[in-house]
Amino acid sequence: ESKLQLIQRHIRAFPDFPKKGILFRDICPILKNPASLTAVIDLLEEHVRKNHPRVDVIVGLDARGFLFGPPLALRLGLGFILVRKKGKLPGATVSVSYELEYSKAEVEIQEDAVAAGQRVLIIDDLLATGGTMLAACELMRKRQAEVLGCMVVVELRDLNGADRLKPHQVFSLVQY
Ligand code: IMP
Repeated sequence: ESKLQLIQRHIRAFPDFPKKGILFRDICPILKNPASLTAVIDLLEEHVRKNHPRVDVIVGLDARGFLFGPPLALRLGLGFILVRKKGKLPGATVSVSYELEYSKAEVEIQEDAVAAGQRVLIIDDLLATGGTMLAACELMRKRQAEVLGCMVVVELRDLNGADRLKPHQVFSLVQY
């Protein structure tokens, strides 16, 4: 079995969660199984070493980007920065608001989290419409950091998130 097959085997689908009509992809089994979590970090590390050797820092999205980001950052000998939902971070922050289906959301970083000119890679568990990832890219732009790319474990292709993120690159391990 390949690393990718091992990962695929640890992603479950739940119909009608969190509401009717949504097929929710659940990555919790990946974390429960050390071999599959190791496989995720192996493949992400391989991608970064090959394509982004000059990256300075890993940026993770609230909340499941916090599960994969720090182990990847450690492998690469890099630091990790948190993009959080509004109201969770102390001190001066920079925020970006974005549209959800029927409402608005806001994400933020601490003002001193990233320095101008730093090269970052952004990671989350899953890319759907790309709205969350786009807001994170906008945060980096506001701080004059350079986004080298976006990485996710799962990409829901039908929702065209990768198109929305252009010219930023999206790298995903598993696509549906
Ligand atoms: P987007 O902003 O529409 O791309 O949604 C992506 C965000 O919503 C990510 O932070 C995901 O964690 C979460 N999300 C959306 N759909 C799913 C899903 O099917 N499974 C797990 N997380 C999801």
